[in-house]
Amino acid sequence: MDAARDCKTLKIVEADDLKLLDHVDTYGYKCPGHNCEVQAFPRAFRPENLVRAHFQVRSSHGADCDVAAEEAIIERGSKASVQQELETSPGLSPARLQLVDTRQIVNPELVPSELRAQADGRNTSKGNTEQRPAGRRPANSIRPICKSFLRFPFDRQLSLHIDGIDTTTYQTVFKKLRSKGFEQFTQQRVFYAELAWTAAEERIEHLTIPLNAGEWIEGKLVCYSVVVSWTEWSNTARSRLKNELETARQENMAASKSKAKTRSYLFFIGSQDAQTPSLFHVDDQRLICTAHDLLVFPTA
Ligand SMILES: [Zn+2]
Repeated sequence: MDAARDCKTLKIVEADDLKLLDHVDTYGYKCPGHNCEVQAFPRAFRPENLVRAHFQVRSSHGADCDVAAEEAIIERGSKASVQQELETSPGLSPARLQLVDTRQIVNPELVPSELRAQADGRNTSKGNTEQRPAGRRPANSIRPICKSFLRFPFDRQLSLHIDGIDTTTYQTVFKKLRSKGFEQFTQQRVFYAELAWTAAEERIEHLTIPLNAGEWIEGKLVCYSVVVSWTEWSNTARSRLKNELETARQENMAASKSKAKTRSYLFFIGSQDAQTPSLFHVDDQRLICTAHDLLVFPTA
């Protein structure tokens, strides 16, 4: 599972955000599903882990648990629309991006009480009768949104709201960078491209990530690059990104060599450099992530 519920705050936490914590309570999480109390154990949550962070469940889910069905939905969603299931599932297809301080997401001590009261996706107000989750909870970073974009190619007509982006569906919010010359983008989008095989280049003030897209000049691809300004980031946040990129790069090369069709993609919301259109600038760790999957564009 990609996410679990924090037992103290009842908020849903992305496994990958645990990498930003100094201390992870391995017994502090449970399944995020409806009426499900099964413990969820965080795995590969240290920044140096070169495996993607996740939660593991060791016993069976509650009878009403919708999360138990998620894998089957993801599987079906790769071949056909699963819109109805996505409309009622809390985490599979976020409807919007809601940026809150990452420290609040991962550290219950910093969560103001009003935020605790309105735990994501379910009604914790008075009364013991739990209502079914409202479905399509907001995401705290672009990560769950990008996963959903790749996983459900037949459901990209679903709504998606991100502040600063003027389109409102998965289909139109995402914009792939191509290899047909550098384009000048006048509107903000969630940009993405396959990661290059070349490793990211680290400097004190920034990290430069080459992408496998750009412009062919004399038989050589001059690539788009994302420049991440990370002077304000914690060491943990920097390590997380570096290790995530390395994991994704290795996965990408391995997939290509084994003739698999999956690829590692870098997703980001950033500003295109005014002088050099091959460069994009990103400074917020919540607005950049990788995902490894099959990219499908259904033909009508
Ligand atoms: Zn469950």
